[in-house]
Amino acid sequence: MTYSQTKAIAAFTLLFMLMAIVSLIAIKKLQYSASTALAARTASVLVSTINQARTSYSQNAVAKLRSHPDISIESQYHQKQYAVPNPATFAIELGEAISAPEQGLILHTFSNYPFTSRITSGGPQDDFQKLALAKLNSQSPVFERVEMIGDKNVLRHAEAIFMEESCVDCHNYHPASPKKDWKVGDLRGAVDISIPLSGDDEDITKTVQYAYVIFIAFSMLGFISMLITLRRAGNLSNELEVKVQQRTSALNQLARTDALTLIANRRHFEEYGKQIIDGDNRTNRPIALLIYDLDHFKSVNDTYGHDAGDECLRAVASAVNNALRDNNDFHARIGGEEFAIILPDVTKSELETITTRILNNVRNVSIACNPSLQVACSIGATLIDTNNSVTLKEVMHIADKALYQAKQNGRNQACIVSEK
Ligand code: GH3
Ligand code: MG
Ligand code: MG
Repeated sequence: MTYSQTKAIAAFTLLFMLMAIVSLIAIKKLQYSASTALAARTASVLVSTINQARTSYSQNAVAKLRSHPDISIESQYHQKQYAVPNPATFAIELGEAISAPEQGLILHTFSNYPFTSRITSGGPQDDFQKLALAKLNSQSPVFERVEMIGDKNVLRHAEAIFMEESCVDCHNYHPASPKKDWKVGDLRGAVDISIPLSGDDEDITKTVQYAYVIFIAFSMLGFISMLITLRRAGNLSNELEVKVQQRTSALNQLARTDALTLIANRRHFEEYGKQIIDGDNRTNRPIALLIYDLDHFKSVNDTYGHDAGDECLRAVASAVNNALRDNNDFHARIGGEEFAIILPDVTKSELETITTRILNNVRNVSIACNPSLQVACSIGATLIDTNNSVTLKEVMHIADKALYQAKQNGRNQACIVSEK
């Protein structure tokens, strides 16, 4: 895996972890606000049920019984045979009946002006209830907040009870009433409902758990897909790199090869020659440079045609290859019918032997389409002294002069000179 891929994976992993943390916090918040909303809705329904029951009791039962001479309506109705609860007591007792303290559900009706019979339990019991009585009014009839009670988060929901038409007289004239100047619409008291915010609400918990599982599954899928994509991209870039290398080396090979004879071209010859003669690759063994040129090749073309001339050039290159020793002898076409050879690590007598072999092999060249065609070449050669520092250009000049000499001497022969 490359450095940039590793960096990409590290960045994605970090991003993925951040996303996971943010999403999990969001899910947790969703769970919290869903259970708060559910608790608020439940509280509101309970309060409205109690208020409806109280109003209905007041209008349909108490109003009828009020004129009955034998039945009294009062908070202490338990002790008397012919007594019924007043509406407030009815509502308070209904709230207490609905409460389930063991499950955290507590309904409590309270007021700044409790009747004398409820003087201890009817007033505000804690800070929340005091604050509620201070805040509640006709514009904001509900006050709620979340409190930590024990180890549980609990929604405290307080809802105002306003003085109604059907109750105002009774409250102003009742001997046990602590306040005698009630008006319709005054804040009479409030109902406080405590509902635990259950993170253990089964439906919500299940939904949240599903959300977690789905989120983690999709995240893992995304992460694995990213890894696979990166790996594929990496493989693809490796394959491309190999292909580019193959193409480049094929192009290099092409750029250094003579198209007609398929031996090295002049460019390759100069690169190699400079390395081995001018450059660091020079050994302390003697090196020979040969230049050979076909004799009267113009008349070969004129007599047999240009195609036969081309065929002849290919055959000559191949025949001279056969006269060379091994792969270290370097053979190139450096002009139309002019070739060069570098023989590394060669003695003078080996040079003479190879030169003779070249002359013979060229003389024996024959091409299938024109068996009568005969060709010969002249060779200019020089043996480079290992101790002299010379350039390819200088050695070429010496070999060229030797070739000219061979042509002057009658062609079809070699002229070997020392480099001076
Ligand atoms: P010399 O013995 O003095 O070298 O005589 P020459 O005729 O070989 O020399 P000259 O320089 O006058 O002519 C070289 C000829 O080589 C000319 C050209 O027709 C031929 N020639 C050069 N390149 C090619 C080639 O690629 N294909 C063919 N068929 N002929 C070529
Ligand atoms: Mg020639
Ligand atoms: Mg020539």
